[in-house]
Amino acid sequence: MVRAVVGANWGDEGKGKITDMLGQESDIIVRFQGGANAGHTIINNYGKFALHTLPSGVFYNHTTSIIGNGVALNIPVLFHELQGIVDRGVPEPKLLVSDRAQMVMSYHILFDKLEEERLAGKSFGSTKSGIAPFYSDKYAKVGFQVSELFQDEAELREKIERVILQKNVILEHLYHAPALKAEDIYKELMEYKKMVEPYVCDVSAYLWNAVREGKNILLEGQLGTLKDPDHGIYPMVTSSSTLAAYGAIGAGIPPYEIKQVIAVCKAYSSAVGAGAFVSEIFGEEADELRRRGGDGGEYGATTGRPRRMGWFDCVASRYGCRLQGATDVAFTVLDVLGYLDEIPVCVGYEIDGEVTSEFPATYLLEKAKPVLKALPGWKCDIRGIKNYEDLPENCRNYVEFVEEQIGFPITMVSNGPGRNDIIFRKRVL
Ligand code: GDP
Repeated sequence: MVRAVVGANWGDEGKGKITDMLGQESDIIVRFQGGANAGHTIINNYGKFALHTLPSGVFYNHTTSIIGNGVALNIPVLFHELQGIVDRGVPEPKLLVSDRAQMVMSYHILFDKLEEERLAGKSFGSTKSGIAPFYSDKYAKVGFQVSELFQDEAELREKIERVILQKNVILEHLYHAPALKAEDIYKELMEYKKMVEPYVCDVSAYLWNAVREGKNILLEGQLGTLKDPDHGIYPMVTSSSTLAAYGAIGAGIPPYEIKQVIAVCKAYSSAVGAGAFVSEIFGEEADELRRRGGDGGEYGATTGRPRRMGWFDCVASRYGCRLQGATDVAFTVLDVLGYLDEIPVCVGYEIDGEVTSEFPATYLLEKAKPVLKALPGWKCDIRGIKNYEDLPENCRNYVEFVEEQIGFPITMVSNGPGRNDIIFRKRVL
């Protein structure tokens, strides 16, 4: 069976923890989109880890971890991360890399930095990992696929010349930066070849067989619905689709094989980078939630930058779950809200004097004001509780209110960062 763990919000919902937890019963875990621009934080018996490129299954002996064709593959980051976990006592994971994945080149990172500098105050708040230039090149058909490392040298050299011709015009005339040299790019690719060669695999064929053998396959998404280039807050989005549906493409499996879509929603909101964020809060109220949030505060796993904070947004989350095609919702980081007397929840958007519960396109979103409803807090620590019925009544009321608002079943409630801090709940909706 294939299932997907994806974000229903802006990312950082706790997908890594849910994937790590479900990894116990998975044979294969696949990353199908995104790159090293975001991170998952995972806490388990080996310690606390921030993964950017490796699938969250790397901590188990029984799982195969796969980098699918849809990923922006940064080979040095991948191997640095692999070495990092092995150095901390994690057994060498079984890793496969799709021969159809494309590689993030050093010049993608360079272009990302130069463009952010050029845009200055109007920048996208990129992590400068080269993701936008990478996907632009992929779709402009000038990217390098892993499989191309194994082709004829003359052909590869010819392609490099062709690709850098265009890049050098931009470097020289737009950014006033030094030109790329074909020989350097060739050497870079050959270094990547050496590193990646033992792991290269025809992943879609591998997964086709695995599906037929009845293996449990988990697709692991990065970021969330609202960062999807089509359905998110364009243009403040990422450059690859964050939706479960894209899992079929980015892993190379039939779409009808994805039987379960677990949309991860955090019990409050956070976002990184620029863009509309209707239920955002500021000042001391935001600082306190940021300090208490997640495990050790809401700061970027890749950049360390403070995340923007807000109350739970039913409008955005309903939309987020709908676009993911959620069969289940995992409601995370609920324990963090235990300090509040009252918990505001955004139940509608007021746009030009009218209240809507539909998530609008960006230009309207910029004008939206949150319609808030305050729910009573539970004022205690809920970590360690294993049964839903043992949660305080106000806490259950919060979960059930959110469930009714978003209209998708919350079947898992996460009440702590650890692998076992999870409460399974009977399907109500
Ligand atoms: P991801 O990218 O969606 O995996 O999310 P991040 O890893 O960026 O952010 C989630 C943060 O919340 C991590 O630090 C997790 O360890 C932590 N976390 C996940 N679930 C829970 C939870 O239920 N309670 C608490 N307190 N922290 C959690």
